[in-house]
This record gives sequence, C-alpha cells and structure tokens, in this order.
Amino acid sequence: MTYLLWLFFFIVIIFLSGVFVWSLKREPDENELKESDLEEWNCPSCGFTVQMGTECIYCGEKKPAERGEQ
Ligand SMILES: [Zn+2]
Repeated sequence: MTYLLWLFFFIVIIFLSGVFVWSLKREPDENELKESDLEEWNCPSCGFTVQMGTECIYCGEKKPAERGEQ
C-alpha cells in the first residue's frame, strides 16, 4: 500500500516540476517581447523615429520584423 502512495507522490512532484519548468521557459519570451516594444526604430516609409509601440504614428506603417540587427 505504501508503494502506491509513493508512486502518487512521485507523479505529483513530476507534474509540479513540469509546471515550474514551463513557467521558467515562458518568462524570457515575454520579457523579449516587452523590450522590443520599447525599442526605438526608424520607419522605413517616412523615416520617422518611433519611440514607442510597433506602429508609426505618422504613416501607420508597422514595425518591420528585424532579427539579429543589434
Ligand atoms: Zn512612418
């Protein structure tokens, strides 16, 4: 009977560590997204330097997907 109890305990621990790893993996992605939103970027259409957001306030152009520019 104690074997079943330990097995149940073991499954609960694996489940909790899985949730823990999942939440750790999610956090950097969210931080990266926030940082790119706060980043300055130059509009390719009108050349205006957009301070905030992912859309040009002058012409409404969306921020181009730039990876590995920094
Ligand atoms: Zn623009």
